[in-house]
Amino acid sequence: MKSRHLVPILGFAAYSGTGKTTLIEALLPKLTKAGLRIGMLKHAHHNFDVDKPGKDSYRLRKAGASQMLISSRNRYALMTETPEEESEFHYLLTRFDQQKLDVILVEGCKNIAFPKIELHREEVGKPWLYPNDDNIVAIAADTKVDDTELPQIDINDLESIKQFVLDFVARKGEIGNEITGAACCDTLSPAFLSVAQGQEKILSLVNTVAETEACPMQQSYYRVLANNVVSPVNVPQYTNSAMDGFAIRGDDLQRDHYQVVAEVLAGHAYEQELQPGQTVKIMTGAPIPQGADTVIMREQASQEGDNVTFAGASIKAGQNVRQAGEDLSLGADVFTQGTRIESAEMGMLASLGFGDATVYRKLKVALFSTGDEVQAPGSEQKANTIYDSNRFTIMGLLEKLGCEIIDFGILEDNEQVMIDAIEKASQQADVVITSGGVSVGDADYIKLALDKLGQIDFWRINMRPGRPLAFGQINNKPFFGLPGNPVAVMVSFVNFVEPALRKMQGEVNWQPLKVNAIATEDLRSKQGRTEFSRGVYQLDSAGRLTVRTTGKQGSGILRSMSEANCLIEISPAVDTVKVGESVTIIPLQGRI
Ligand code: AMP
Ligand code: MG
Repeated sequence: MKSRHLVPILGFAAYSGTGKTTLIEALLPKLTKAGLRIGMLKHAHHNFDVDKPGKDSYRLRKAGASQMLISSRNRYALMTETPEEESEFHYLLTRFDQQKLDVILVEGCKNIAFPKIELHREEVGKPWLYPNDDNIVAIAADTKVDDTELPQIDINDLESIKQFVLDFVARKGEIGNEITGAACCDTLSPAFLSVAQGQEKILSLVNTVAETEACPMQQSYYRVLANNVVSPVNVPQYTNSAMDGFAIRGDDLQRDHYQVVAEVLAGHAYEQELQPGQTVKIMTGAPIPQGADTVIMREQASQEGDNVTFAGASIKAGQNVRQAGEDLSLGADVFTQGTRIESAEMGMLASLGFGDATVYRKLKVALFSTGDEVQAPGSEQKANTIYDSNRFTIMGLLEKLGCEIIDFGILEDNEQVMIDAIEKASQQADVVITSGGVSVGDADYIKLALDKLGQIDFWRINMRPGRPLAFGQINNKPFFGLPGNPVAVMVSFVNFVEPALRKMQGEVNWQPLKVNAIATEDLRSKQGRTEFSRGVYQLDSAGRLTVRTTGKQGSGILRSMSEANCLIEISPAVDTVKVGESVTIIPLQGRI
């Protein structure tokens, strides 16, 4: 990850027993003699300690210093306690003074994505790492393999290993970046993007619809406010009782008994000023009479005729009363433009007396499936076909977002038919979405058609599922060409289409909910890309948020989306999340 660090990072990956430390120990003098200034990062057991019981620094640390810096004429050491969780790899690298180094060598950190030399000795009897790890840039072993193009060095030939490291540093670690590909963004062609880059790019290219309309409150659910809302009234309108009970004056608390002069139900009022010695029996929500400001709960009262006592009740002036404007005062800011109207917002707008809301007009989305093998459901299945599921998944997703859907059905694999249909769709709709036929290398007609229609880019997103994605403009309308695989369609939609549609609908600063959960199974991923596994999260018996996968993760297995309640997001820097480790999840409730 050249972009994040000043110096190249190179690791040594091996199973224990291979003699990593011994090799590096022998290598370092050769490298320093060749002029390299070396930083070493070593991953150790969780309870390692460089300090010794009894030493001053040890005593001070144990006494509570969470950072302990000890220095002398010859060296200093900073010990930082990280009881919550282990520091992140790239953060640790920033702890080095990289201005004073030429390379950082890493021992361990097998599961993190950065360039590494694989060390392998036959007698250790462990499997090779390079077939499953794209970050291996060379092999140093005591045997040769012939199924790889990677440079191979004799593990006992320290001179050659030294030379490899020197070359690596001279090329500023670029071998690693070629091989990890995804890791470094700045140098890649625009056709190869990270998830975040794709999202940013799309968001920067779509705009909120201009037109707004007045929408009756009854129909306003999930619409987006097109203006700021200021309260035209006090809520509540009048000071009222929060309890069923008796209202008295706050300057008149010390009596044995009070005279009940009236009973006030919600929706009514006692019109006179309450006098000392008097009380009004009052129901929840009824207006507090003038002069009164305190309510005693009915349960603390004993009434006989028009005489009431509150024996034993400790009464505070002002208690059990809701003040006028306590919820919202006249003129207060209530909602800002771009707020999504959900149940609570609907209720609040109604509580302010609004009969309608000014909202952005609904978004019209045109939808196609493509592919000659794709058949509409509802008729007997023909040979060599699959039923169209994508159009229906996307319909659901669009419905959820409150879009108007224009269903164009399944596009025949015919270039001119496609051009005409998509052209027409872009005139009728604000957004056009297709699925299928965008894989790089595919000879699908849709790509030929799109090439002729407008500025469409064919991206490869470093993610799985959902690597291919076409995005561009047709007649100034955003176009999304989603992949064909049913799971990829959904994962691409929630990652790229949903944020864009929300922005077009006028919603401001929408962010998907992401939280951390503890993996209850090992989660494998490929370094250099974002992996979205389908997951099920829940609280375990200890109240911790845990997550497991739904099982088989093929991108055609739509059932995995149906069983999932979240996506597990494994970042490109990680290749395996072990049981007990924390992983990011994206809950899907309310989104799919
Ligand atoms: P493609 O990207 O067109 O090569 O499609 C990838 C996979 O997704 C193929 O197995 C297609 O058959 C499948 N696929 C494409 N469109 C649909 C669809 N509308 N519904 C279900 N599966 C589809
Ligand atoms: Mg296809």
